[in-house]
Amino acid sequence: MIWDVLIIGAGPAGLSAALFTRMRRMSTLLLDTAVAGGQLASLYPKKPVHDFPSYTYVMGDALGRNFVEQARHMGSEIREGEHVTMLARDEATNTIRVTSTKGAYEARSVIVATGGGAFEPRKIKKPGEAEFAGRGVTYGMPDAETCRGKRVLVIGGGDSALEAALSLKEVADVTLIHMLDKWQGMDAYVEDIQASPRIRWMLQTETVEIRGGGGNGGEDAVRSVVVRNKKTEATEELPIDVVAINVGYLMDAKIVRQWGLELEGNQIRSDNVMKTNIPGVFACGDIATYPGKYKLLITACSEGAAAGNSAYIYVRQPKKFTVGELYAAPKDKGDTQPTGPA
Ligand SMILES: Cc1cc2nc3c(=O)[nH]c(=O)nc-3n(C[C@H](O)[C@H](O)[C@H](O)COP(=O)(O)OP(=O)(O)OC[C@H]3O[C@@H](n4cnc5c(N)ncnc54)[C@H](O)[C@@H]3O)c2cc1C
Repeated sequence: MIWDVLIIGAGPAGLSAALFTRMRRMSTLLLDTAVAGGQLASLYPKKPVHDFPSYTYVMGDALGRNFVEQARHMGSEIREGEHVTMLARDEATNTIRVTSTKGAYEARSVIVATGGGAFEPRKIKKPGEAEFAGRGVTYGMPDAETCRGKRVLVIGGGDSALEAALSLKEVADVTLIHMLDKWQGMDAYVEDIQASPRIRWMLQTETVEIRGGGGNGGEDAVRSVVVRNKKTEATEELPIDVVAINVGYLMDAKIVRQWGLELEGNQIRSDNVMKTNIPGVFACGDIATYPGKYKLLITACSEGAAAGNSAYIYVRQPKKFTVGELYAAPKDKGDTQPTGPA
């Protein structure tokens, strides 16, 4: 079978693209190396999302499930646990061959929506971090139930750290520290943190050492963390049970380097209709970049819509739009953004 469109990655971008390709009744296959839902499902299922339109807030796993259910309802086929290793355009047949760990496929168009690829939480590289990993040291959004009644130190100053602190404030004794002199997250989170009497926060404060000791059950776990104020150099030993490190993720998008796509850093260069340098191959979501790019759920969705519609124009060539138009030469000097679907 030749698929009209094969989408690599079933995160918010890929699933949004599928919604639009199915609206066009294109046969649509999504392959995901892990589980459908992307970062929502795998990185922050228990984090509330406050900036997705139409929801006051929604938990990561619930939002991820909605994306998947809608794409399935529209008739997309989603295969999980299938890692794509290669894509190559076949000029003779004008199709694209996609190879995964489970098989080989042929498609008339491909949408690359692989997000950050494989993720690994960034480490703080301080004494005790590796030793107590899994024994009090955690990464990302900590589970509220596990933290209930405990003393939690959240490390980091971006959205993830601020959200982690806010999500625990009702159940735990929370301290938040950040190395820099300013928070780096959304103003709304900063405002909530500063207004909360339940969160102790310290800027310009770094971790010196995570210390442990025998718990009541005899297990060796986190007991305290030594922190230092970078301005005054004063140190303090905080009694702590859980250290929630939220200083970002290392994204490994190495695999797309072998696919012949034009890259900018670790991202695929695309335009406003999500075209790449390979005819018939589009990119959307965190893996795609262009001037003014934001890595957000809402932009992943809108880029998915553009990529899905561009794949439609490319494959079906409806009268209104032609492939020629999609791949038109720039009209004016400096105008490198061809017109997309209306
Ligand atoms: C901790 C954290 C909190 C965040 N909170 C928010 C927030 O509150 N609001 C917001 O707007 N944004 C938030 N973001 C950012 C948001 O999650 C991303 O912008 C969004 O997930 C991008 O969607 P995507 O579909 O491009 O990528 P992803 O969600 O990363 O999905 C990509 C999918 O592709 C799959 N994949 C990767 N490589 C392959 C391969 N070779 N073969 C097959 N499948 C592959 C992956 O398994 C994954 O399922 C947050 C990010 C993090 C890390």
